[in-house]
Amino acid sequence: MYDIAIIGNGPAGLSCAITARMRGLSTLVVGPQNSTSWLARAERIDNYPGMPQVAGGLLLKTFAQQARDLGAEEKPGLVRQVLAGDGSFMLLVENEVCEAKTVLLAMGAARPSLLAGEEALVGMGVSYCATCDGHFYRGKRIAVLSATAEGAEETHFLAGLAAEVDYYPLKKHEPEGLPANVTYVAETPQALAKTPEGVTVTTKQQTRVYDGVFIFRNAVSLSMLLSELAVQGSFIPVDRGMRTNVPGVYAAGDCTGKPLQVAKAAGEGNIAAITAAEYLATRG
Ligand SMILES: Cc1cc2nc3c(=O)[nH]c(=O)nc-3n(C[C@H](O)[C@H](O)[C@H](O)COP(=O)(O)OP(=O)(O)OC[C@H]3O[C@@H](n4cnc5c(N)ncnc54)[C@H](O)[C@@H]3O)c2cc1C
Repeated sequence: MYDIAIIGNGPAGLSCAITARMRGLSTLVVGPQNSTSWLARAERIDNYPGMPQVAGGLLLKTFAQQARDLGAEEKPGLVRQVLAGDGSFMLLVENEVCEAKTVLLAMGAARPSLLAGEEALVGMGVSYCATCDGHFYRGKRIAVLSATAEGAEETHFLAGLAAEVDYYPLKKHEPEGLPANVTYVAETPQALAKTPEGVTVTTKQQTRVYDGVFIFRNAVSLSMLLSELAVQGSFIPVDRGMRTNVPGVYAAGDCTGKPLQVAKAAGEGNIAAITAAEYLATRG
């Protein structure tokens, strides 16, 4: 079990990892292999102290290397869900489970826009995990709604179980080499609903019914990540120690609100690590 699991590999998460290691905490950083950090998109940063006129990508790599050199461990992937247990947390990272005593939320400001009806159907015919739930749909008819080409990889696995699969792109991409029982549907899903026949996917053109629906995106909504978490709009309220309303869970960076700046993200990550270390010390 890790002392701290950090969700997000942008400046807030990596800064937290650096200080957490300096404070002797066993530290796991979870984030996509190719970080979707906003910093990677910034051509040049002029206002980060000590590193004038630095390319965003280089600054991000430097943060990551510093965290690595200090002994932070990394796990590629997205955290799909955090479950609060008795004094610890279970994190579902793609298809694996990790355990930690404290958690930092540092997922940046990007949020997925959910489909109408989606949230109410999670676990009731709508799933985000092919490995966890695919076996329920052996020989059945399912839909895959995917924002990225990675969803196409999961579709290969699902196509081996289900009889028929319809593949809808949530964002424009062309999946290659889909299996023979997968149909590419070039329509944009707008709403999901439960009917006695199954789960319906409605596009502008028509409504089709399935036994189950799998959704793949490269971001997770806050309400689905940690159900107990208090949110204000699309941001997470924190106190000056970066504590959220859930004991042992901290938040830092763009996900706590404006200003959306690297120095603020790094500073909040640093504070969160210190607060988490103090919390762990009081628990013995
Ligand atoms: C074009 C551009 C220019 C900018 N210029 C400047 C500038 O000049 N100066 C400045 O100070 N700021 C600038 N910014 C803003 C700055 O990049 C952000 O404020 C900063 O990156 C926020 O850091 P963060 O760690 O909070 O979030 P991010 O950098 O967005 O990192 C979040 C990370 O969390 C990961 N993640 C998300 N969900 C999950 C999950 N469920 N599981 C695991 N990982 C997850 C994401 O993939 C991402 O890697 C700019 C931003 C852009 C887009």
